[in-house]
Amino acid sequence: MSVHAPASQPATARTAPATPATFHRKRPTVLSYGLGADSTAILLMFLAEPAAHGLELDLSDLVVVHAITGDEFVDSLDYVNRLVLPLLRARSVRLVQICRAGKSDTDGVLVLDDSRAPRRIHAAGPWRLSDELRAAGTVPQLANGQRRCSIRFKGWVLDNWAAAEFGDRSFRRVIGYHADELGRAEKDSTIQRRLNTEAGRTICEPHYPLILARMGRAAVEAYVLNSLGEPIKKSYCAMCPFSGVCASRDRHEERLRAHPHVAADVLRLEYVSMALNEQMSLYGPAGSLYGRLTEDGRNRAVLKAFQTGLDQSAYAVYEVRRITFVGRTKDCRRWHGKKCDEPQWWCSWQRTPRCHRLHAVISQDGAPADAEPNCLGTDPRCRGKQQKGQTWRSVRTVLEGPRKRAELVVGTFADYFPKRVRLVTGTTSGIRRAHYLPDAEGLPRTEAFIVAAPAGVADKQRPGFEKKWTEHTGGRPVFPPLRELPQPVRRTRSTGGPAPVRRARSVGDVVLIA
Ligand code: SF4
Ligand SMILES: [Zn+2]
Ligand SMILES: [Zn+2]
Repeated sequence: MSVHAPASQPATARTAPATPATFHRKRPTVLSYGLGADSTAILLMFLAEPAAHGLELDLSDLVVVHAITGDEFVDSLDYVNRLVLPLLRARSVRLVQICRAGKSDTDGVLVLDDSRAPRRIHAAGPWRLSDELRAAGTVPQLANGQRRCSIRFKGWVLDNWAAAEFGDRSFRRVIGYHADELGRAEKDSTIQRRLNTEAGRTICEPHYPLILARMGRAAVEAYVLNSLGEPIKKSYCAMCPFSGVCASRDRHEERLRAHPHVAADVLRLEYVSMALNEQMSLYGPAGSLYGRLTEDGRNRAVLKAFQTGLDQSAYAVYEVRRITFVGRTKDCRRWHGKKCDEPQWWCSWQRTPRCHRLHAVISQDGAPADAEPNCLGTDPRCRGKQQKGQTWRSVRTVLEGPRKRAELVVGTFADYFPKRVRLVTGTTSGIRRAHYLPDAEGLPRTEAFIVAAPAGVADKQRPGFEKKWTEHTGGRPVFPPLRELPQPVRRTRSTGGPAPVRRARSVGDVVLIA
């Protein structure tokens, strides 16, 4: 199969830059290969015209790196195995496949394959994104506007591998943003410039060949189809809820129908997440995947596989306790700086003009006395809007058993304490929970319930949870624990240096990942 340069690529981009005579050690080019259309198109462009892209003719200075999340659809792997890897083998292009070696950053990065004759794309490493989500009882989420899963399973892995591979040597980092993603590319460049400045050297320089070639998404897909003869599907994790990363709703559901057991696993992940927190469906306020799939009769096989899986699962009764704290307001930050141990949500620590108007302090002779600089917020009209702060969650498995038994325990518990326990059915999930704390309004607030869901969520709570819980409720868990309460786990923090990178051992063709 031959590979041609894209028709829309400007002629100027095809001219190989002259190599300075004194340039002995050439800066390597690293292509982050996500298996999708964008990075596949770049790879094909590199193969077709290496010199036009500043590469050696034999591509010896190109490193293609694939970060494995462990949850790609198999048809994406199959496409690359059949149509792309033979091209890499034919040109001896170096492909490195890396993944997280475990849950903790201190487990480091595992290199599953580093070869100029790669035979296959590895489906998973020892710790998949779905393992992490299953143990945490949650779904992929944004943290400070960023996709936490992508940072942990891709960005972090790639950065640490690059640090170990190149040390202080600078490299060119190729990213598959296309011409419709100028904003993302600009943001990426800004972040990299900041990182380079902070490091006092050029760690790497970002390079966006699709933008230089002025290729939008449609042109990219057409180019890959033209080169490889088969349309390429979007590459993303089966449980990805993020628009722009995941395929459109229609295409995604079509793919789930083609892989009913993968779909059933995703639905189960969502089910457990919602059992522990009704709001945590895959699409949050925009609804659940389950709800979407029930709207189309063609999804019956998927839904049936999901229900059968639930019936056959080992179940657990979880005790979930949650504290939602008061968050910091703009005023709190303004008056109390970076740190405030007791964020207040009323108007301000200092009196505002509005506050002066609302409750002027009157002196003994009846004259206004504004000596009082602070407002304690005793007048509700002074108070600003409440700000929701962090939520701390404690999850503990109370017992394990078949589904029927676990669900019966939840109902029996409510029957047994009719005055203290309320059975509440989730409006999105339809899952019943037995709440044993009174309904709380306002902040801070606490919530506690038991719920039955598939087993597998790890006991978890952060250090200091019990102390805060007692402060806020004065109470103790209702159940004598079947297991001891989890010991507060000391969070593994990066020591500042790069994480260890090690190579997976192989025996013959078998890679030992554990
Ligand atoms: S594809 Fe989606 S779920 Fe997977 S790592 Fe990226 S953002 Fe997260
Ligand atoms: Zn404050
Ligand atoms: Zn006031």
